[in-house]
Amino acid sequence: MKIHEYQAKELLAAAGAAIPRGIVASSPAEAAAAFDTIGGKPVVLKAQVHAGGRGKGKFKGSGKDFGGVKYITKREDVQAVAEVMFQYPLVTKQTGEEGQKVSKVLVQEAADIAKEIYVGMVVDRTVGAPILMACAEGGVEIEEVAARSPEKILKEVVDPNAGLQPYQARKLAFELGFSGEQIGQAEKILQALAKVFSEYDCSLAEINPLVVTPKGDVLALDAKVTFDDNGLFRHPAVEAMRDISEENPAELRAAKAGLSFISLTGNIGCLVNGAGLAMSTMDIIKYHGGEPANFLDVGGGANKDQVTEALRILLGDPRVKAVLINIFGGIMKCDTIAGAVIAAFKEVQPKVPFVVRLEGTNVEAGRKMLKESGLNLTPATDLTDAAKKVVAAAK
Ligand code: GDP
Ligand code: MG
Repeated sequence: MKIHEYQAKELLAAAGAAIPRGIVASSPAEAAAAFDTIGGKPVVLKAQVHAGGRGKGKFKGSGKDFGGVKYITKREDVQAVAEVMFQYPLVTKQTGEEGQKVSKVLVQEAADIAKEIYVGMVVDRTVGAPILMACAEGGVEIEEVAARSPEKILKEVVDPNAGLQPYQARKLAFELGFSGEQIGQAEKILQALAKVFSEYDCSLAEINPLVVTPKGDVLALDAKVTFDDNGLFRHPAVEAMRDISEENPAELRAAKAGLSFISLTGNIGCLVNGAGLAMSTMDIIKYHGGEPANFLDVGGGANKDQVTEALRILLGDPRVKAVLINIFGGIMKCDTIAGAVIAAFKEVQPKVPFVVRLEGTNVEAGRKMLKESGLNLTPATDLTDAAKKVVAAAK
């Protein structure tokens, strides 16, 4: 689960990080009022969307050349820029071309910047532990720096039980070029980042940029936090920060039904049991020249209701031109699954072609039921046959 920048900053501030003053606005009038509250000083208007790369983004259809982060000095400009931000979808490298609607704007007291630094924490699967990363060349070009000069990314492995040790934070602060009083300030922010990361079961916690002002203050100017969904049940306060308007409606609906669903950009709907089989199914569809519209794992014990809901979700996507049902009856028997598919099919009455591949326990009984159902389902003998048939059907 993702949260907004202003929420991530609240968590970091509570853990001891220094952040700039900011007020969240839900309308242009509120943004202008926030400008007054901040004291008429220069502000940065920041569109709150879950996607990154806002600074380099554009508001689609607005004809304006600014992105989701805009430095402003005058009250009337606050109003005008906020109007654009609330009206047009923001397109960034991470949103897809349709963009993301903005419903909150953070009005933040602008900072003067002498230096932009990157710090972030993720789980490093090669090391098998969280790592704290840092780079003296932070800001909007961090991806390019990481690709061009990976040696510039400093790393500290954090023991998950002991947490980030003070000496590690100090070492990174030195390596980033901090000196004097700033070392303590930088350490405090690094400790806050590590604390948020481990306390809330995050998969990512990032400050980019961490800035040094000309006066020598160290501030977290932007923040991003992503949580491991499997740990959410332990953090009701985090769950309460959820903004479902930022999430994919089909994925939300699937989660409610206990289905693992991720929507993709192709035109072949996939209904599969088991994550491994779902991935192989997507691979083989691609191998035969097709593009999966989604990843959908109905799980080992899928019942009629789940299969029905899964079919509804698949068919709710207008891009889906054909569907492949690929089920291995292991824990669940093939005849039970065939029964669920038939019942779901009668209820949903799909208009697109369906290819069904069943394998496993009681497969003969299952195939017989599908055949005798009189429904418009194309049977497949094996996975390759199924993939070829569904790719042809989608064309
Ligand atoms: P992102 O593009 O979504 O990562 O948004 P950021 O909040 O990181 O802002 C992008 C860039 O805008 C930063 O790297 C800064 O260069 C600039 N920026 C953001 N806030 C301020 C500010 O308060 N003052 C100044 N001078 N620049 C800012
Ligand atoms: Mg940023």
